[in-house]
Amino acid sequence: MNLITFTSEDLIAPDTLVLRDRRLQHLLTVNRPEIGSLLKVGELGGMIGQGEIIALSPEQATLRIRLDTPPPPKREMVLVLALPRPKMLKRILQMVVTLGVTELVLINSFRVEKSFWQSPWLSEAAIAEQLRLGLEQAGDTVAPRVTLAPRFKPFVEDDLPALMQGRQGWVAHPAKQANGPQEGSAETRRLSPSTKPTLLAIGPEGGFIAYEIEKLQAAGLICCDLGPRILRVETAVAVALGQLLP
Ligand code: SAH
Repeated sequence: MNLITFTSEDLIAPDTLVLRDRRLQHLLTVNRPEIGSLLKVGELGGMIGQGEIIALSPEQATLRIRLDTPPPPKREMVLVLALPRPKMLKRILQMVVTLGVTELVLINSFRVEKSFWQSPWLSEAAIAEQLRLGLEQAGDTVAPRVTLAPRFKPFVEDDLPALMQGRQGWVAHPAKQANGPQEGSAETRRLSPSTKPTLLAIGPEGGFIAYEIEKLQAAGLICCDLGPRILRVETAVAVALGQLLP
């Protein structure tokens, strides 16, 4: 936890923060502060600053806070991701926060297992919890917007054109493999750093099928290759976003 996040519900006065839950346990076991210790704090959706421990017990920590710094800047980055398996979803949610993604759309794809859509990790509360852990890791207070698109065709035809407005769009798709034809008639490019608003699509573990690549291309996305080796979904997300960083 590089940043203690809080909401107005944690304040007992405009400059006084009280922690009793998971954050207190983390403080007591990891940070081990004393009276007078200074910790980085940030209001969810708002400013970042310092909190000074003014009272401490096993039940609660009281901090006097001063918020003076805006959250780290981001550029517009939409990540369209085929819904990963639940275990990976948790990690990816935290990761996309640390990478500064502004909007995440979890989409269906032919090779996404149907059962993944029933996962309790997809509930609003579970997603919010992972995003918050990501913010605490990243030292940020503004989480990406997360939306679910459980039907591929309506998403690509009805929602994607609006998301693509004013953006450069990419779909990561491995270039032709030696052992068989590539799916989709893709002209494939390499990513390069860019400051433009960007949209990036990453496929499921089994990859996008040809029909999906065609639909994404028809919406204006360009196929990009991330190198000769096949990356795990979460690695592909990190590598592609890293290659796009200016
Ligand atoms: N089984 C698929 C690979 C899926 S990897 C195949 O063999 O083609 C999961 C997703 O990560 C892909 O859909 C793609 O979006 C991305 N990805 C992984 N490695 C990649 C690479 N070398 N180039 C481009 N995209 C890659």
